[in-house]
Amino acid sequence: MPYLDYNATAPLRPEALEAMLPYLRDHFGNPSSIHAVGRKARVAVDEAREQVADLLGVSPRELVFTAGATEANNLALQGFARRHPGAHVASSALEHPSVMETLRALEEQGRIRWSRLPFGEDGAWSGELAADIGLLTLMLANNETGVLLPVAELAPAVHRTGGVVHVDVTQAAGRIAVDLEALGADMAALSAHKLGGPKGIGAFFVKRGTELEQALHGGKQERSRRPGTENVAAIVGFGAAAAAAQAELAAFGERMRTLRDRLWSGLQALPQPPLLNTPLDRSVPNTLNVSFAGLDGNYLLQRMDMLGLSISSGSACASGTPEPSPVLTALGYPPERVKGALRFSLGWATTEPDVDEALAVVRRVVGGAR
Ligand code: PMP
Repeated sequence: MPYLDYNATAPLRPEALEAMLPYLRDHFGNPSSIHAVGRKARVAVDEAREQVADLLGVSPRELVFTAGATEANNLALQGFARRHPGAHVASSALEHPSVMETLRALEEQGRIRWSRLPFGEDGAWSGELAADIGLLTLMLANNETGVLLPVAELAPAVHRTGGVVHVDVTQAAGRIAVDLEALGADMAALSAHKLGGPKGIGAFFVKRGTELEQALHGGKQERSRRPGTENVAAIVGFGAAAAAAQAELAAFGERMRTLRDRLWSGLQALPQPPLLNTPLDRSVPNTLNVSFAGLDGNYLLQRMDMLGLSISSGSACASGTPEPSPVLTALGYPPERVKGALRFSLGWATTEPDVDEALAVVRRVVGGAR
């Protein structure tokens, strides 16, 4: 029963589960409490913060825990817009809905001006950034094709004209080396569950000196950026997953590339091979997006599901809705290529037999559909 949908979510790493259990069972304290029970929780949260900060190459003081990347993206974009009314915000046209819909709402409310930069399928864009950009928000890796956007190349120009850079590293963290300092990120967002941590927990990085308005109000938790009693067990699981991902990072990249090559070779050996939508040398190594010309990706996905293969057509957030993938459409692919798209995404527990079983299912389903 191969599961090749890690860009939707990953199974919990055993290290994360083991680390969490004591905080679900025994150590129930509130990290804000002064007594020993509370202090036990506080120490665990601080340790996890260091583990996640290490994965991103930042200081733990610049990192707050959130309910996930959606919340972190909202805190970044809404916090910026409140502080800088009327500012020019630029993004790619490939961003996740937690960025796109937030920017759309802010634009409709007249709080920002929004421009979308047309990156190509290989992540390249040769235009010139406007000098009045107050905020550039870019994903490091796209969730549908895995393409990497040139954040480090564009950040200096934004900084030169006084702007700041927000990076959604949700699909990159734990898969490739992510050094937020080297990228030039002033803010960043990620979710634990994409790298083998629990769902409903993530992190928001804010570089010291970045001017933001508080978007949520309440207690003083998480430097008041994200008030509310911390989800201690989930935070501990996030830390353990980040540490495990970091420990295997180099080997992981190699392993993913080998498995993805095996998958792509198998697909190319089909009587009518699919079109490749992922730039193999400019993408996270776990993602392979392909299009079967003349076939319906959603139909294929359902048939494959019946045979035990879990994959995605476009993004999970969009599945269930009949609309074509906005990302593949923004990349300029014709409707037929968008309709026939399937996304395979691998991760920490994926094995060679998983890939071979997946290929057997694909051969059967695509053969039957043709
Ligand atoms: N950004 C990207 C690039 C994503 O892929 C996702 C998850 N699909 C998110 C943000 C949102 O993550 P979450 O649903 O965990 O808040």
